[in-house]
Amino acid sequence: DASGNGFVTARAKLEMDARQRRGLTGSPSASVSPQSDNINRAMVLEMLCGADGELPEKLRNLEPRLIEHVSNEIMDRDPNVRWDDIAGLEHAKKCVTEMVIWPLLRPDIFKGCRSPGRGLLLFGPPGTGKTMIGKAIAGEAKATFFYISASSLTSKWIGEGEKLVRALFGVASCRQPAVIFVDEIDSLLSQRKSEGEHESSRRLKTQFLIEMEGFDSGATNRPQELDEAARRRLTKRLYIPLPSSEARAWIVRNLLEKDGLFKLSKEEIDTICNLTEGYSGSDMKNLVKDASMGPLREALKQGIEITKLKKEDMRPVTLQDFEKALQEVRPSVSLSELGTYDQWNKQFGSLS
Ligand code: ADP
Repeated sequence: DASGNGFVTARAKLEMDARQRRGLTGSPSASVSPQSDNINRAMVLEMLCGADGELPEKLRNLEPRLIEHVSNEIMDRDPNVRWDDIAGLEHAKKCVTEMVIWPLLRPDIFKGCRSPGRGLLLFGPPGTGKTMIGKAIAGEAKATFFYISASSLTSKWIGEGEKLVRALFGVASCRQPAVIFVDEIDSLLSQRKSEGEHESSRRLKTQFLIEMEGFDSGATNRPQELDEAARRRLTKRLYIPLPSSEARAWIVRNLLEKDGLFKLSKEEIDTICNLTEGYSGSDMKNLVKDASMGPLREALKQGIEITKLKKEDMRPVTLQDFEKALQEVRPSVSLSELGTYDQWNKQFGSLS
């Protein structure tokens, strides 16, 4: 077919460019020029070729620049998050392990009766670890991680969303095992028919749902906007709530210990936990960041110059630093929002 041929030709030509370039400079990726763009593209395409040096069937009809965008911007070969980096959420971790990680590690066992559910929806307030879970799935299952924000498909890739989605799923199928994490999935699969919903965005949605049949995960802060078709495909729906008091303590301790700044007593940690009811994981991180500026500001106030400051000149972070930071960093999720999540969870969430 014509476009298939076009593609193969393009690839052959690009490889030649790459070789020529290497011959010329000895350093293929040093400069940003049309040639080095081509080299980059050739390397991306090379990486996706099978042992026979041929581009897989699924990719032949796709535009090289889209494949390249997926490989460079959306694909993350080393997501670098493990379960142990995520505070609390024991229930979610257990479900995700059984439902996604084991099947990725042992597809031979998860067949027939044990065929895994197709889509996993993580929903809940922003900043509670949904993206971290997506990355940890890939990390634990040694899978390639693809991250795409659904709103970018409808805003940045106007008119090209469908093609990009096809490229995304195409590349992912060549890099298996793969986890595709769709952020803000509500903006793609929303039930709200805005006046402006064109034929094209309906097609995008339909295509997405079809492609999704074989793949894994999505996250949303607005589950109530998912329509029935989307809900049906996201068979497992896990509520990722705000962190418990223990999880908040863990985040504080873990972040400070990493930097050798931890010297709080059990009572002081308890006080911080009592004062941070309703804070998300990401609020807690911001709080720790702000509190850890306390010792630095104090040292500088005493007249030490920043360029001469030694780490030993700074005291550990104290409860007072946190009390000050609490005035700056407020919880980002409101009570009424939490009510909406609870309600949706009761109606549509998976209990196990
Ligand atoms: P979202 O639920 O919006 O996808 P993220 O996973 O992107 O949230 O979390 C944002 C940041 O907040 C993380 O990078 C991490 O630093 C912190 N965070 C959120 N939840 C947790 C958690 N459960 N454990 C540890 N850190 C967390």
